[in-house]
Amino acid sequence: MKVVILVGGVGGARFLLGVKQALGLPATGSAPESPHEVTALVNTGDDVWMHGLRICPDLDTCMYTLGGGIDTDRGWGHAGETWTVKEELAAYGAEPTWFGLGDKDIATHLIRSRMLRAGYPLSQVTEALCDRWQPGVRLLPMSDDRVETHVVIDDPDSDTASDQRKAIHFQEWWVRYRAEPKAHSIIAVGADEAKPAPGVLDAIAAADIVLFAPSNPVVSVGTTLGVPGIRDALRKTRAKVVGVSPIIGGKALRGMADACLSAIGVETSAEAVGRHYGSRKESPEGVLDGWLVAEGETVDVPGVAVRDVPLLMSDVDATAAMVRAAFDLAGVSVA
Ligand code: GDP
Ligand code: CA
Repeated sequence: MKVVILVGGVGGARFLLGVKQALGLPATGSAPESPHEVTALVNTGDDVWMHGLRICPDLDTCMYTLGGGIDTDRGWGHAGETWTVKEELAAYGAEPTWFGLGDKDIATHLIRSRMLRAGYPLSQVTEALCDRWQPGVRLLPMSDDRVETHVVIDDPDSDTASDQRKAIHFQEWWVRYRAEPKAHSIIAVGADEAKPAPGVLDAIAAADIVLFAPSNPVVSVGTTLGVPGIRDALRKTRAKVVGVSPIIGGKALRGMADACLSAIGVETSAEAVGRHYGSRKESPEGVLDGWLVAEGETVDVPGVAVRDVPLLMSDVDATAAMVRAAFDLAGVSVA
């Protein structure tokens, strides 16, 4: 079976662990003899240059998680990380100081940056990095082109009367400011001219099922859907497309997704997010056939098959059960 999944970082990576288990793939490492093929289309809108290094938070979170190298408490970065370089940079007064840049992580960024500067596209760089980590699924950046999510906020440096706004990088808003300044809008800079990375459209076209991880619907899955060609491919594939709600009981889990949803005028509820993605059959831009919502929730998304199941990714078994429910809703069975 060919499974394609749209993912962000932490939520996406946890979901991918469940996909692997549901398909009988080992938790870490690859299984060349398996008949199943898993392709993750990873958001790159969070990517950023810092200290001359290209940082791809969502790709790295997926790669380290599936490769068994993630810090499971933090949910991002390496296990057993040290912070010497970060402390030295701070001693020089080098900005930014608010981003967690671990020593081991820096090795990843050094290799990536060097390869990008040598002219390799991000998709090939990612493949090279995955040679070491063996995530067991194909990690494809949504695009090789530079797309960066920016958030428009009130300029904290302007006097209140002038009502000046400014756009800051998503990472600064999310990590430095904890998504507290109200987001007036969220813009994927460069998305209009971006092309899907090689393999992305083919994977969608050849899929037996497409899943949306319960990743952030605005700045993870939403950014990927904004790369021209991807939405169309999802609308055309013969595979069923099933999404998993990141919102349970009107709340985003472990995160601040509600701040992103309100910026685009979508209520923080499983129903509103399902309607925002929309039905492939009944809405002109819609991408969903099925929508999994949390157990006990009654949700109506016109034209979409909705099923309520336990949606807490408390461990890999629970996540795998969620994935099997998505397969079931799509009418595909794992041989
Ligand atoms: P990020 O890129 O690291 O922010 O991670 P993602 O975009 O992949 O995932 C973040 C989203 O995962 C948040 O919006 C959460 O609501 C959602 N999430 C986190 N844990 C769970 C869980 O256990 N179940 C569900 N259904 N959603 C979750
Ligand atoms: Ca992210």
